[in-house]
Amino acid sequence: MRVVKTISEVREFVRSVRKGGGCVGLVPTMGALHAGHLALIRKSVRQDDATVVSIFVNPTQFGPAEDLAAYPRSLEQDVAACQAEGVDLIFAPDVTNMYPEGFATYVEVEGLTDGLCGRFRPGHFRGVTTIVSKLLNIVQPDRAYFGEKDYQQLIVIKRMAADLNFPIEIVPVSTVREKDGLAISSRNVYLTAEERAVAPALYRALEQAAQAVGDGASGRDAEEIVKQTLEGEPLFKLQYVEAVHPETLEPRGDQGTPMVIAAAAHLGSTRLIDNIKIEGRDQC
Ligand code: AMP
Repeated sequence: MRVVKTISEVREFVRSVRKGGGCVGLVPTMGALHAGHLALIRKSVRQDDATVVSIFVNPTQFGPAEDLAAYPRSLEQDVAACQAEGVDLIFAPDVTNMYPEGFATYVEVEGLTDGLCGRFRPGHFRGVTTIVSKLLNIVQPDRAYFGEKDYQQLIVIKRMAADLNFPIEIVPVSTVREKDGLAISSRNVYLTAEERAVAPALYRALEQAAQAVGDGASGRDAEEIVKQTLEGEPLFKLQYVEAVHPETLEPRGDQGTPMVIAAAAHLGSTRLIDNIKIEGRDQC
């Protein structure tokens, strides 16, 4: 496994894989790798002849009041984890490799980025779609892997790849959870012991709402259930809960399945996000 910083080294590596007739998978990450990232990496290692993992804490997707400086960084451990999983190349550029002086081009997906996290993190998805387009252009993989934990991100990236004709399959990967249900996230290290103990309440609330939707409840009912459940958790400050269509991200309102119930909540200074998907019932 090699660890490289420059775009030309990535291109050279990918050229050599292609020369041998191999296909390439890309797993974009911000590092601080955990079991969630490893699920993406394993899927690529299984499916692709070569797996490239990018590790880059992308400044353009952080708002001015967000945790860019504090974001956990652990390149040495990440390298060891990738090595153990059979990754072929790590691309870990500096900010100046990705955003040289004079950089002025951004990619923006409209509509899908208005609601959910987009409402509370202005500019976030513009940063995400810009860096992901750059990575897709640099690596030119056959497949790129994204977690369902960041559900809106996955849908936005699928839209972008289709709209901009990237000849790449976007592969979704199910959310990896701790035993108690908490979605694994690099930001979980910020939680105090007390916060960590109550953190699974977010997913429990989503599960309760999903159960009700399975029994015929509407999107609005589902949102109400999540709100009420989390009101009983004094450490939680719910930022939003929205029941949306899994593809269009339009609010479900009075409608039922198919549905994704997505929520963001602050637990102390940590912002947690999670979601649950309820498939449509088969028509008789
Ligand atoms: P990040 O490093 O947080 O930008 O995440 C990199 C990729 O890993 C994204 O596609 C995330 O959706 C995915 N990811 C992060 N946490 C998880 C998780 N718990 N389960 C599945 N995928 C995840």
